[in-house]
Amino acid sequence: MSYKTYLKEANFVAGEWIGADSGKTIDVTNPATGEVIGTIPNSGRAETERAIAAAQETFGELSAMPLLERVGLLWKLHDALMDNQDSLGELLTVEMGKPLAEAKGEVAIGAAYVRWFAEEVRRAKGEIVPAPGNGRRIVVTKHPIGVVGMITPWNFPSSMLARKVAPALAAGCTVVAKPATATPYSGLAWAELCDEVGFPKGSVNILTGSAREIGGAMMDSPVVRKLTFTGSTEVGKELIRQSADTVKKVSMELGGNAPFLVFDDADIDAAVQGAMVSKYRNAGQTCVCANRIYVQAGVHDEFVEKLKVETAKMKVGDGREDGVEQGPMIDMDGVEKVEELLADATQKGGKIVLGGGRHEKGKSFFEPTIVTEATQDMRFAKEEIFGPLAPVFRFEDEDDAIAWANDTDFGLASYAYTRDIGRIWKLNEQLQYGMIGINSGLITTVEAPFGGVKESGLGKEGGSQGLEDYLDTKYTAIDF
Ligand code: ADP
Repeated sequence: MSYKTYLKEANFVAGEWIGADSGKTIDVTNPATGEVIGTIPNSGRAETERAIAAAQETFGELSAMPLLERVGLLWKLHDALMDNQDSLGELLTVEMGKPLAEAKGEVAIGAAYVRWFAEEVRRAKGEIVPAPGNGRRIVVTKHPIGVVGMITPWNFPSSMLARKVAPALAAGCTVVAKPATATPYSGLAWAELCDEVGFPKGSVNILTGSAREIGGAMMDSPVVRKLTFTGSTEVGKELIRQSADTVKKVSMELGGNAPFLVFDDADIDAAVQGAMVSKYRNAGQTCVCANRIYVQAGVHDEFVEKLKVETAKMKVGDGREDGVEQGPMIDMDGVEKVEELLADATQKGGKIVLGGGRHEKGKSFFEPTIVTEATQDMRFAKEEIFGPLAPVFRFEDEDDAIAWANDTDFGLASYAYTRDIGRIWKLNEQLQYGMIGINSGLITTVEAPFGGVKESGLGKEGGSQGLEDYLDTKYTAIDF
């Protein structure tokens, strides 16, 4: 099956595939080739209001559906994703640029979220709490929160929606979602798949077009009880402000600036492998990418040399070509941001030891790049790079490294390589991050609560916490 099977050039509202009221469309391009692969509706406020009304109407039906019936639909959704993994993976690569193996992996992770939440919702237990006196029971129960608005970014166009749609549907919530304009088709495919497996019409509504209008309609609506957003901290802050008027619950997965610490006692080969995965996955365009690599002086040169050898082996190209490990960046803005950060670093004494420029393939392809002699006054010490640039900082003292690691407004993922058990517990206590990978550069998994502290966000996705975010807690006092 070709990727075109799930390339839907329409929006899904109230169980119907529709165009924008205005008839206007937006072109979608493949970043590897520059080709237009299709169009999407340029929808706005009116279409979103209809989607919200449909989601409200269907909420009663979906939330009242027998639990095992809803869980059964999620099982079917899991299977539908996996049965179509190849075509959905190719669709993702064509619209986003990541290597096919990563894209297929993303579809599989999305399916794993569906299965996880189908399991987890069967254990969404309440509790009975002892009352202070006789003749009363305190009963605590869980209830779906209602209609949920979702806004997702382009870097994981399928799995970012999976983490939101799966717990929402499991809990019995209905959905109004807006995927990123650059990568809309993997998002729209969720509507098609949910419809195919039998979710009631109106359960999942997906719209494309103006972020301000679609987001604005979601934020203004008193019917939308929760808004879950993955994207930049700047937009996240704006949405938190907008949520105040209707007192919505918000979940925010915002930017990161992950430190990656390598101590003298680390297994250096493992640390290099971890850094490769953490830095270059998705061409460095993930919010958990190693943004700052801090290496202790005793192993610094060995680490840099080995990282250089491994990085130089990476094959850059169209994600659909065999063996490609790094695709293009999403657009030229992304390329220019990396160039600015690189210029700032070299001007302040940073040394480019590999790469450093646009790739010979042209367009938004960029060379995998390593900069050494990085320091805390360089811009990437504070800002998210979101590209294939690996800055290496040298440190002598453990406490300095931890202080530098924490010296940022962000607090999403962090990583450390060490074999000292005492140090591992110290890092667990002192790193101000929602997630810590010890001796691993890849820690995202459906079983664990993904999420940040500080300005990296609110709420968790995955784990049992990822379902709780879609449930309200109700307490009933029963006197007898
Ligand atoms: P990224 O650069 O990672 O895509 P953004 O925060 O710019 O991060 O975008 C993430 C998502 O938020 C996209 O779907 C985008 O269209 C949407 N978005 C951007 N600005 C707004 C806004 N003002 N209101 C609602 N959604 C927005």
